[in-house]
Amino acid sequence: MSSDHPDHHDATEVQICRDFDVVIVGGGMSGLALARTLADSDLQIAVVEASSEGPHWSIDQVDPRVSALSEASRALLSRLGAWPEMVARRVTPYTHMSVWDGEGTGALSFHAQEAGVTLLGHIVENSVTVQALQQTLTGYDNVVLLRGHKATGLTLGESSHQLCFDDMVLNTALVVACDGAQSRIRTWAGFNTREWDYGHHALVTTVQVEQPHQGTAWQRFLPDGPLAFLPITKGEDEHWCSIVWSTSPAKAEALQAMPDADFCAELTRAFESRLGQVMSTDTRYTVPLRQRHAVDYVKPGVALVADAAHTIHPLAGQGVNLGFLDVAMLGDCILEAHARGDAVGDLAWLQRYQARRQPDNLAMMAAMEGLKRLFCAEALPLRWLRNRGLDRVSKMPWLRRQLVTQALGWRQGTSERLKPGHTVGF
Ligand SMILES: Cc1cc2nc3c(=O)[nH]c(=O)nc-3n(C[C@H](O)[C@H](O)[C@H](O)COP(=O)(O)OP(=O)(O)OC[C@H]3O[C@@H](n4cnc5c(N)ncnc54)[C@H](O)[C@@H]3O)c2cc1C
Repeated sequence: MSSDHPDHHDATEVQICRDFDVVIVGGGMSGLALARTLADSDLQIAVVEASSEGPHWSIDQVDPRVSALSEASRALLSRLGAWPEMVARRVTPYTHMSVWDGEGTGALSFHAQEAGVTLLGHIVENSVTVQALQQTLTGYDNVVLLRGHKATGLTLGESSHQLCFDDMVLNTALVVACDGAQSRIRTWAGFNTREWDYGHHALVTTVQVEQPHQGTAWQRFLPDGPLAFLPITKGEDEHWCSIVWSTSPAKAEALQAMPDADFCAELTRAFESRLGQVMSTDTRYTVPLRQRHAVDYVKPGVALVADAAHTIHPLAGQGVNLGFLDVAMLGDCILEAHARGDAVGDLAWLQRYQARRQPDNLAMMAAMEGLKRLFCAEALPLRWLRNRGLDRVSKMPWLRRQLVTQALGWRQGTSERLKPGHTVGF
């Protein structure tokens, strides 16, 4: 048994004991998406979420945590019925990407039309996605969302595992860890990880800018890390951007502590005034960034998904996009196992999920690490290489099309049901 509070196994303290086929720990974007993926089956499913309240979202206030969702993620969210609800709240499509090197002349920008599509993706507040996914679970008697319950221990059994909480015990054939980067399930189940610090903290906030964002996701590579301005449209107003500024921990702390006016001036300078002056800023938050990858994603009756399995640098906005591809693939494997009369925790089926998703996640992580090193390097040959590289890529139409295709998120290891042109289940 592994547990934060070993005494919680004492049966006299336990008030509730329930059995489920699948228990998903974590009611964030990945956990709720997986629950909805499985909801149409006759499986009995629990989603257990530590926070007692759902995310707050309001029309006036932009959530500082946003994600650039790829078209593959939008396809999943549409299939799950969440997308219309998200559009009703706030999603901002973007059609251009503009990337440039803060230390040289290299620049690259591309447009969705180069790949024959109308847009590259959407910037969406995480709270919008979570609320819409939660709403899609309404009316499913076989899915319960248990909020305000933090898992405190896990006992692995032969064909059934026991999850402990302060006031209840859940027995289940399959535990899915959707409990994020600091996953306790991953630790308790004994999964090993390879991880290292990026030496970056991300400062996130929302700002008002002088000129409209032009439906463009902007990124400037500074010597100490990338600075992204992601477009947010409030009603019809295109003068808002969500900021992700990855920099040294000390600088992030200093930027967070500055008076608002000083921060706006510093941000305007760092962004070379591409959208004019930064006029105002919301509250600023910082998040330490760490690269982490689980050596295995599965064990008998246990699977790791999304940030519980892998976390990568936000510079290419891929974290939850990879997570949604995990969700779609694991969902396929669980439903197929169940349809064939096999146990949902059967290792052979879970290994199919790992085999299809792990190489793709690893490839993306390696690419992000390479980009981070290349763009943060100060050595002259590397600066020359990145300037030449950006300029040459910008003159090669086929490579530009490849980049756009990558941005759309149709990657290896994508569930067949999510691929463009596949209509079953949408
Ligand atoms: C600055 C920044 C920018 C980013 N930008 C992008 C982007 O543009 N595009 C993109 O694709 N990704 C982006 N990401 C990554 C993305 O935010 C994550 O991949 C995503 O939030 C992971 O979702 P998740 O559901 O796996 O985990 P989380 O969102 O971390 O959710 C985990 C949930 O589990 C719950 N939980 C934890 N422990 C327990 C427990 N013991 N018991 C019960 N519940 C528990 C938590 O309360 C939480 O609700 C970014 C990340 C950062 C830091």
